[in-house]
Amino acid sequence: MSRYWSSLVHRLTPYVPGEQPKLPNLVKLNTNENPYPPSPQVQAAIAAELANGGQSLRLYPDPNADLLKQAIAARYAEFGISRQQVFVGNGSDEVLAHVFVALLRHELPILFPDITYSFYPVYCGLYDIAYRTVPLADDFGIRVEDYTAANGGIIFPNPNAPTGCLLPLAAIEQLLAAHRASVLVVDEAYVDFGGESAVALVNRHPNLLVVHTLSKSRSLAGLRVGYAVGQSDLIEALDRVKNSFNSYPLDRLAIAGAVAAIGDQEHFEKTRQAVISSREVLRDALQALGFSVLPSAANFIFARHPRRDAGQLAAALRQRGIIVRHFKLPRIDQYLRITIGTDTQCKLLVAALREILKPDQPTMKAMNSAI
Ligand SMILES: *Cc1c(COP(=O)(O)O)cnc(C)c1O
Repeated sequence: MSRYWSSLVHRLTPYVPGEQPKLPNLVKLNTNENPYPPSPQVQAAIAAELANGGQSLRLYPDPNADLLKQAIAARYAEFGISRQQVFVGNGSDEVLAHVFVALLRHELPILFPDITYSFYPVYCGLYDIAYRTVPLADDFGIRVEDYTAANGGIIFPNPNAPTGCLLPLAAIEQLLAAHRASVLVVDEAYVDFGGESAVALVNRHPNLLVVHTLSKSRSLAGLRVGYAVGQSDLIEALDRVKNSFNSYPLDRLAIAGAVAAIGDQEHFEKTRQAVISSREVLRDALQALGFSVLPSAANFIFARHPRRDAGQLAAALRQRGIIVRHFKLPRIDQYLRITIGTDTQCKLLVAALREILKPDQPTMKAMNSAI
Protein backbone atom coordinates (compact mmCIF):
# COMPACT_ATOMS: atom_id res chain seq x y z
CA MET A 1 0.00 0.00 0.00
CA SER A 2 1.26 3.42 -0.78
CA ARG A 3 -0.13 6.93 -0.80
CA TYR A 4 1.17 7.21 -4.35
CA TRP A 5 -1.14 4.48 -5.62
CA SER A 6 -4.27 5.41 -7.52
CA SER A 7 -7.55 4.43 -5.88
CA LEU A 8 -8.00 1.86 -8.66
CA VAL A 9 -4.74 0.14 -7.72
CA HIS A 10 -5.87 0.00 -4.10
CA ARG A 11 -9.01 -1.83 -5.19
CA LEU A 12 -7.38 -4.38 -7.53
CA THR A 13 -7.12 -8.09 -6.77
CA PRO A 14 -4.61 -9.27 -9.40
CA TYR A 15 -4.61 -12.72 -10.97
CA VAL A 16 -2.06 -15.15 -9.56
CA PRO A 17 -0.61 -17.42 -12.26
CA GLY A 18 0.60 -20.94 -11.47
CA GLU A 19 4.14 -20.88 -10.19
CA GLN A 20 7.16 -21.25 -12.47
CA PRO A 21 9.76 -22.62 -10.02
CA LYS A 22 13.37 -22.55 -11.10
CA LEU A 23 14.11 -26.03 -9.70
CA PRO A 24 15.76 -28.57 -12.00
CA ASN A 25 14.11 -31.92 -12.83
CA LEU A 26 10.72 -30.79 -11.74
CA VAL A 27 7.74 -32.66 -13.16
CA LYS A 28 5.76 -29.55 -13.95
CA LEU A 29 2.08 -30.33 -14.35
CA ASN A 30 0.63 -27.09 -12.96
CA THR A 31 0.09 -24.55 -15.74
CA ASN A 32 -1.20 -26.54 -18.71
CA GLU A 33 1.85 -25.98 -20.84
CA ASN A 34 2.43 -28.45 -23.65
CA PRO A 35 5.05 -31.09 -22.81
CA TYR A 36 6.25 -31.26 -26.43
CA PRO A 37 8.42 -28.69 -28.19
CA PRO A 38 6.84 -26.40 -30.78
CA SER A 39 7.11 -27.13 -34.50
CA PRO A 40 10.78 -27.10 -35.59
CA GLN A 41 9.68 -24.55 -38.18
CA VAL A 42 9.18 -22.06 -35.35
CA GLN A 43 12.85 -22.12 -34.48
CA ALA A 44 13.79 -21.83 -38.15
CA ALA A 45 11.47 -18.87 -38.68
CA ILE A 46 12.77 -17.03 -35.62
CA ALA A 47 16.36 -17.72 -36.69
CA ALA A 48 15.57 -16.34 -40.15
CA GLU A 49 14.05 -13.23 -38.59
CA LEU A 50 17.29 -12.80 -36.63
CA ALA A 51 19.53 -13.19 -39.70
CA ASN A 52 22.18 -10.58 -40.55
CA GLY A 53 22.93 -9.77 -36.96
CA GLY A 54 19.30 -9.15 -36.13
CA GLN A 55 19.09 -6.23 -38.59
CA SER A 56 15.33 -6.42 -38.75
CA LEU A 57 15.01 -5.72 -35.04
CA ARG A 58 15.97 -2.10 -35.75
CA LEU A 59 12.55 -1.66 -37.24
CA TYR A 60 9.14 -1.76 -35.59
CA PRO A 61 7.10 -4.85 -36.42
CA ASP A 62 3.96 -4.71 -38.55
CA PRO A 63 1.42 -3.13 -36.17
CA ASN A 64 -1.34 -5.24 -37.74
CA ALA A 65 0.65 -8.49 -37.94
CA ASP A 66 -0.94 -9.04 -41.34
CA LEU A 67 1.06 -12.17 -42.17
CA LEU A 68 -0.16 -13.81 -39.00
CA LYS A 69 -3.77 -12.75 -39.52
CA GLN A 70 -3.57 -14.19 -43.02
CA ALA A 71 -2.17 -17.49 -41.70
CA ILE A 72 -4.94 -17.71 -39.10
CA ALA A 73 -7.66 -16.86 -41.63
CA ALA A 74 -6.24 -19.53 -43.96
CA ARG A 75 -6.46 -22.08 -41.16
CA TYR A 76 -10.20 -21.38 -40.97
CA ALA A 77 -10.72 -21.16 -44.74
CA GLU A 78 -13.41 -23.87 -44.58
CA PHE A 79 -15.52 -21.47 -42.48
CA GLY A 80 -14.97 -18.52 -44.82
CA ILE A 81 -12.95 -16.47 -42.33
CA SER A 82 -11.14 -13.44 -43.78
CA ARG A 83 -8.12 -11.56 -42.48
CA GLN A 84 -10.47 -8.72 -41.40
CA GLN A 85 -12.14 -11.13 -39.00
CA VAL A 86 -8.98 -11.86 -37.04
CA PHE A 87 -7.47 -9.93 -34.13
CA VAL A 88 -4.08 -10.83 -32.61
CA GLY A 89 -2.54 -9.95 -29.27
CA ASN A 90 0.23 -10.60 -26.79
CA GLY A 91 -1.16 -13.88 -25.50
CA SER A 92 -4.88 -14.49 -25.26
CA ASP A 93 -4.81 -12.85 -21.84
CA GLU A 94 -4.15 -9.54 -23.57
CA VAL A 95 -6.78 -10.30 -26.21
CA LEU A 96 -9.25 -11.02 -23.38
CA ALA A 97 -8.34 -7.77 -21.59
CA HIS A 98 -9.23 -5.83 -24.75
CA VAL A 99 -12.41 -7.89 -25.17
CA PHE A 100 -13.58 -6.95 -21.68
CA VAL A 101 -13.19 -3.24 -22.22
CA ALA A 102 -14.26 -3.20 -25.90
CA LEU A 103 -17.23 -5.56 -25.91
CA LEU A 104 -18.26 -6.48 -22.36
CA ARG A 105 -18.31 -3.14 -20.60
CA HIS A 106 -21.96 -2.07 -20.63
CA GLU A 107 -24.69 -1.05 -18.20
CA LEU A 108 -25.83 -4.60 -17.51
CA PRO A 109 -23.62 -7.07 -15.65
CA ILE A 110 -21.86 -9.76 -17.65
CA LEU A 111 -22.36 -13.45 -16.88
CA PHE A 112 -19.84 -16.24 -16.42
CA PRO A 113 -19.80 -19.56 -14.54
CA ASP A 114 -19.08 -19.63 -10.80
CA ILE A 115 -16.21 -22.00 -11.55
CA THR A 116 -14.15 -20.77 -14.46
CA TYR A 117 -10.95 -19.04 -15.56
CA SER A 118 -10.14 -16.85 -12.57
CA PHE A 119 -8.80 -14.03 -14.73
CA TYR A 120 -12.35 -12.97 -15.74
CA PRO A 121 -13.26 -11.33 -12.41
CA VAL A 122 -9.82 -9.70 -12.41
CA TYR A 123 -10.52 -7.92 -15.71
CA CYS A 124 -13.90 -6.88 -14.31
CA GLY A 125 -12.08 -5.29 -11.38
CA LEU A 126 -9.59 -3.54 -13.64
CA TYR A 127 -12.24 -2.12 -15.95
CA ASP A 128 -15.01 -1.66 -13.40
CA ILE A 129 -17.38 -4.11 -15.06
CA ALA A 130 -20.25 -5.57 -13.03
CA TYR A 131 -20.62 -9.35 -13.27
CA ARG A 132 -22.83 -12.15 -12.01
CA THR A 133 -21.75 -15.75 -11.75
CA VAL A 134 -23.99 -18.60 -12.85
CA PRO A 135 -23.47 -21.83 -10.88
CA LEU A 136 -22.34 -24.87 -12.82
CA ALA A 137 -24.50 -27.99 -12.49
CA ASP A 138 -23.52 -30.55 -9.84
CA ASP A 139 -21.57 -32.48 -12.50
CA PHE A 140 -19.72 -29.19 -13.27
CA GLY A 141 -21.33 -28.82 -16.67
CA ILE A 142 -22.46 -25.42 -18.00
CA ARG A 143 -26.27 -25.38 -18.24
CA VAL A 144 -27.20 -22.92 -20.96
CA GLU A 145 -30.81 -22.84 -19.64
CA ASP A 146 -29.47 -21.06 -16.56
CA TYR A 147 -28.23 -18.10 -18.63
CA THR A 148 -31.53 -16.27 -18.70
CA ALA A 149 -30.73 -12.88 -17.13
CA ALA A 150 -30.45 -9.81 -19.33
CA ASN A 151 -26.72 -9.16 -19.55
CA GLY A 152 -23.92 -7.06 -20.96
CA GLY A 153 -22.27 -10.18 -22.36
CA ILE A 154 -21.42 -13.79 -21.56
CA ILE A 155 -17.99 -15.38 -21.40
CA PHE A 156 -16.66 -18.84 -20.62
CA PRO A 157 -13.89 -21.14 -21.76
CA ASN A 158 -14.89 -24.16 -23.84
CA PRO A 159 -13.76 -26.63 -22.64
CA ASN A 160 -14.19 -24.89 -19.31
CA ALA A 161 -11.26 -24.26 -16.97
CA PRO A 162 -10.32 -25.75 -14.59
CA THR A 163 -12.88 -28.54 -15.08
CA GLY A 164 -12.10 -29.58 -18.67
CA CYS A 165 -15.82 -30.07 -19.39
CA LEU A 166 -16.96 -29.44 -22.95
CA LEU A 167 -20.13 -27.79 -24.16
CA PRO A 168 -21.33 -28.95 -27.60
CA LEU A 169 -21.63 -26.37 -30.39
CA ALA A 170 -25.40 -26.84 -30.44
CA ALA A 171 -25.61 -25.47 -26.88
CA ILE A 172 -23.48 -22.48 -27.89
CA GLU A 173 -25.83 -21.79 -30.80
CA GLN A 174 -28.74 -21.92 -28.38
CA LEU A 175 -27.07 -19.25 -26.21
CA LEU A 176 -26.25 -17.08 -29.23
CA ALA A 177 -29.87 -17.17 -30.34
CA ALA A 178 -31.17 -16.39 -26.84
CA HIS A 179 -28.87 -13.37 -26.31
CA ARG A 180 -28.68 -11.52 -29.59
CA ALA A 181 -28.33 -8.16 -27.84
CA SER A 182 -24.98 -9.01 -26.25
CA VAL A 183 -21.70 -10.65 -27.20
CA LEU A 184 -20.91 -14.26 -26.33
CA VAL A 185 -17.17 -14.79 -25.93
CA VAL A 186 -15.99 -18.39 -26.17
CA ASP A 187 -12.45 -18.78 -24.84
CA GLU A 188 -11.08 -21.78 -26.73
CA ALA A 189 -7.69 -22.08 -25.02
CA TYR A 190 -8.14 -25.88 -24.85
CA VAL A 191 -10.49 -26.67 -27.74
CA ASP A 192 -7.82 -28.41 -29.82
CA PHE A 193 -7.63 -31.22 -27.26
CA GLY A 194 -11.13 -32.50 -27.80
CA GLY A 195 -13.65 -29.89 -28.83
CA GLU A 196 -15.10 -28.46 -32.00
CA SER A 197 -14.27 -24.80 -32.59
CA ALA A 198 -17.09 -22.28 -32.52
CA VAL A 199 -15.24 -20.42 -35.31
CA ALA A 200 -17.53 -22.53 -37.52
CA LEU A 201 -20.44 -20.38 -36.26
CA VAL A 202 -18.85 -16.94 -36.60
CA ASN A 203 -20.28 -16.02 -40.00
CA ARG A 204 -23.80 -16.93 -38.90
CA HIS A 205 -23.70 -15.05 -35.58
CA PRO A 206 -22.77 -11.36 -35.34
CA ASN A 207 -22.61 -11.62 -31.52
CA LEU A 208 -20.00 -14.38 -31.33
CA LEU A 209 -16.31 -13.84 -30.58
CA VAL A 210 -13.98 -16.83 -30.33
CA VAL A 211 -10.67 -16.40 -28.49
CA HIS A 212 -7.72 -18.70 -29.02
CA THR A 213 -4.14 -19.06 -27.87
CA LEU A 214 -0.93 -20.57 -29.20
CA SER A 215 0.18 -21.26 -25.61
CA LYS A 216 -1.38 -24.68 -25.20
CA SER A 217 -1.93 -26.69 -28.37
CA ARG A 218 0.95 -25.01 -30.27
CA SER A 219 3.48 -25.28 -27.40
CA LEU A 220 4.23 -21.56 -27.45
CA ALA A 221 3.32 -20.24 -23.99
CA GLY A 222 6.68 -18.48 -23.93
CA LEU A 223 6.13 -16.59 -27.20
CA ARG A 224 2.88 -14.89 -26.06
CA VAL A 225 0.49 -15.07 -28.99
CA GLY A 226 -3.29 -15.20 -28.86
CA TYR A 227 -6.06 -14.26 -31.29
CA ALA A 228 -9.76 -13.69 -31.66
CA VAL A 229 -12.10 -14.46 -34.55
CA GLY A 230 -15.42 -12.69 -35.05
CA GLN A 231 -17.34 -10.55 -37.49
CA SER A 232 -15.42 -7.48 -38.61
CA ASP A 233 -17.23 -4.92 -36.44
CA LEU A 234 -16.26 -6.85 -33.29
CA ILE A 235 -12.67 -6.97 -34.54
CA GLU A 236 -12.75 -3.25 -35.25
CA ALA A 237 -13.74 -2.61 -31.61
CA LEU A 238 -10.73 -4.64 -30.45
CA ASP A 239 -8.45 -2.76 -32.87
CA ARG A 240 -9.66 0.57 -31.50
CA VAL A 241 -8.77 -0.49 -27.97
CA LYS A 242 -5.45 -2.03 -29.00
CA ASN A 243 -4.46 1.11 -30.88
CA SER A 244 -5.28 3.14 -27.79
CA PHE A 245 -3.01 0.93 -25.70
CA ASN A 246 -0.05 -0.54 -27.61
CA SER A 247 0.29 -0.41 -31.39
CA TYR A 248 2.82 -3.27 -31.46
CA PRO A 249 1.64 -6.04 -29.14
CA LEU A 250 3.45 -8.71 -31.15
CA ASP A 251 7.15 -8.34 -31.80
CA ARG A 252 8.88 -9.54 -34.96
CA LEU A 253 10.01 -12.85 -33.46
CA ALA A 254 6.54 -13.64 -32.14
CA ILE A 255 4.94 -12.91 -35.52
CA ALA A 256 7.50 -15.04 -37.39
CA GLY A 257 7.24 -17.92 -34.91
CA ALA A 258 3.46 -17.86 -34.77
CA VAL A 259 3.10 -17.88 -38.58
CA ALA A 260 5.37 -20.94 -38.71
CA ALA A 261 3.47 -22.71 -35.93
CA ILE A 262 0.07 -22.14 -37.56
CA GLY A 263 1.51 -23.42 -40.84
CA ASP A 264 2.74 -26.75 -39.47
CA GLN A 265 -0.46 -28.76 -39.37
CA GLU A 266 1.39 -32.06 -39.23
CA HIS A 267 3.30 -31.24 -36.05
CA PHE A 268 0.11 -29.82 -34.53
CA GLU A 269 -1.85 -33.02 -35.23
CA LYS A 270 0.91 -35.27 -33.97
CA THR A 271 1.45 -33.46 -30.66
CA ARG A 272 -2.20 -32.88 -29.85
CA GLN A 273 -3.00 -36.54 -30.53
CA ALA A 274 -0.14 -37.53 -28.21
CA VAL A 275 -1.57 -35.35 -25.44
CA ILE A 276 -5.07 -36.73 -26.00
CA SER A 277 -3.95 -40.36 -25.80
CA SER A 278 -1.82 -39.70 -22.70
CA ARG A 279 -4.86 -38.08 -21.12
CA GLU A 280 -6.93 -41.22 -21.63
CA VAL A 281 -4.18 -43.43 -20.16
CA LEU A 282 -3.72 -41.10 -17.18
CA ARG A 283 -7.46 -40.96 -16.55
CA ASP A 284 -7.64 -44.76 -16.34
CA ALA A 285 -4.60 -44.91 -14.04
CA LEU A 286 -6.03 -42.29 -11.68
CA GLN A 287 -9.37 -44.04 -11.60
CA ALA A 288 -7.58 -47.28 -10.72
CA LEU A 289 -6.09 -45.41 -7.74
CA GLY A 290 -9.58 -44.47 -6.59
CA PHE A 291 -9.79 -40.93 -8.00
CA SER A 292 -12.96 -39.63 -9.55
CA VAL A 293 -12.03 -37.84 -12.73
CA LEU A 294 -14.21 -35.37 -14.61
CA PRO A 295 -14.55 -36.04 -18.35
CA SER A 296 -11.89 -33.82 -19.94
CA ALA A 297 -11.67 -32.40 -23.45
CA ALA A 298 -8.58 -30.40 -22.46
CA ASN A 299 -4.84 -30.96 -21.86
CA PHE A 300 -5.46 -31.42 -18.16
CA ILE A 301 -7.50 -33.59 -15.85
CA PHE A 302 -9.59 -32.44 -12.89
CA ALA A 303 -9.71 -35.16 -10.26
CA ARG A 304 -10.45 -35.75 -6.62
CA HIS A 305 -9.77 -38.59 -4.25
CA PRO A 306 -12.72 -39.52 -2.04
CA ARG A 307 -10.55 -40.09 1.05
CA ARG A 308 -7.59 -37.74 0.68
CA ASP A 309 -7.47 -34.00 1.09
CA ALA A 310 -6.48 -32.40 -2.22
CA GLY A 311 -4.25 -29.80 -0.57
CA GLN A 312 -2.34 -32.50 1.25
CA LEU A 313 -2.01 -34.58 -1.92
CA ALA A 314 -0.62 -31.56 -3.78
CA ALA A 315 1.88 -30.93 -0.96
CA ALA A 316 2.96 -34.59 -0.89
CA LEU A 317 3.48 -34.54 -4.68
CA ARG A 318 5.47 -31.35 -4.37
CA GLN A 319 7.82 -33.03 -1.89
CA ARG A 320 8.47 -35.59 -4.59
CA GLY A 321 9.25 -32.94 -7.20
CA ILE A 322 5.88 -33.03 -8.95
CA ILE A 323 3.73 -29.91 -9.06
CA VAL A 324 0.04 -29.81 -9.88
CA ARG A 325 -2.52 -27.04 -9.36
CA HIS A 326 -4.79 -26.88 -6.34
CA PHE A 327 -7.35 -24.07 -6.07
CA LYS A 328 -8.49 -23.18 -2.57
CA LEU A 329 -11.90 -22.12 -3.86
CA PRO A 330 -15.48 -23.06 -2.98
CA ARG A 331 -16.78 -26.30 -4.58
CA ILE A 332 -13.39 -27.28 -6.04
CA ASP A 333 -11.00 -27.25 -3.09
CA GLN A 334 -10.94 -31.06 -3.04
CA TYR A 335 -9.84 -31.29 -6.67
CA LEU A 336 -6.44 -31.30 -8.30
CA ARG A 337 -5.89 -29.94 -11.79
CA ILE A 338 -3.22 -32.02 -13.41
CA THR A 339 -1.67 -31.00 -16.73
CA ILE A 340 -1.08 -33.84 -19.18
CA GLY A 341 2.67 -34.31 -19.44
CA THR A 342 4.73 -36.74 -21.49
CA ASP A 343 4.01 -40.42 -20.85
CA THR A 344 7.13 -40.53 -18.66
CA GLN A 345 5.89 -37.62 -16.56
CA CYS A 346 2.43 -39.18 -16.25
CA LYS A 347 4.02 -42.43 -15.08
CA LEU A 348 6.09 -40.59 -12.47
CA LEU A 349 2.93 -38.90 -11.24
CA VAL A 350 1.00 -42.15 -10.97
CA ALA A 351 3.90 -43.89 -9.17
CA ALA A 352 4.17 -41.01 -6.69
CA LEU A 353 0.42 -41.03 -6.04
CA ARG A 354 0.45 -44.80 -5.56
CA GLU A 355 3.14 -44.36 -2.91
CA ILE A 356 1.36 -41.43 -1.24
CA LEU A 357 -1.93 -43.31 -1.14
CA LYS A 358 -0.38 -46.54 0.12
CA PRO A 359 -1.42 -46.12 3.79
CA ASP A 360 -4.91 -45.82 2.37
CA GLN A 361 -4.98 -49.45 1.18
CA PRO A 362 -6.61 -51.61 3.86
CA THR A 363 -3.85 -53.45 5.76
CA MET A 364 -4.17 -57.04 6.98
CA LYS A 365 -4.48 -55.77 10.52
CA ALA A 366 -7.25 -53.32 9.65
CA MET A 367 -9.06 -56.01 7.68
CA ASN A 368 -8.80 -58.47 10.58
CA SER A 369 -10.09 -55.96 13.07
CA ALA A 370 -12.94 -55.17 10.69
CA ILE A 371 -13.94 -58.81 10.85
C1 LIG B 1 -4.13 -20.46 -20.61
C2 LIG B 1 -5.42 -19.76 -20.74
C3 LIG B 1 -5.51 -18.49 -21.32
C4 LIG B 1 -4.29 -17.63 -21.55
O1 LIG B 1 -3.49 -17.98 -22.52
P1 LIG B 1 -2.29 -17.05 -22.97
O2 LIG B 1 -2.49 -16.99 -24.43
O3 LIG B 1 -1.07 -17.78 -22.57
O4 LIG B 1 -2.40 -15.71 -22.33
C5 LIG B 1 -6.75 -17.93 -21.53
N1 LIG B 1 -7.87 -18.56 -21.15
C6 LIG B 1 -7.83 -19.76 -20.57
C7 LIG B 1 -9.09 -20.40 -20.14
C8 LIG B 1 -6.60 -20.38 -20.33
O5 LIG B 1 -6.57 -21.53 -19.68
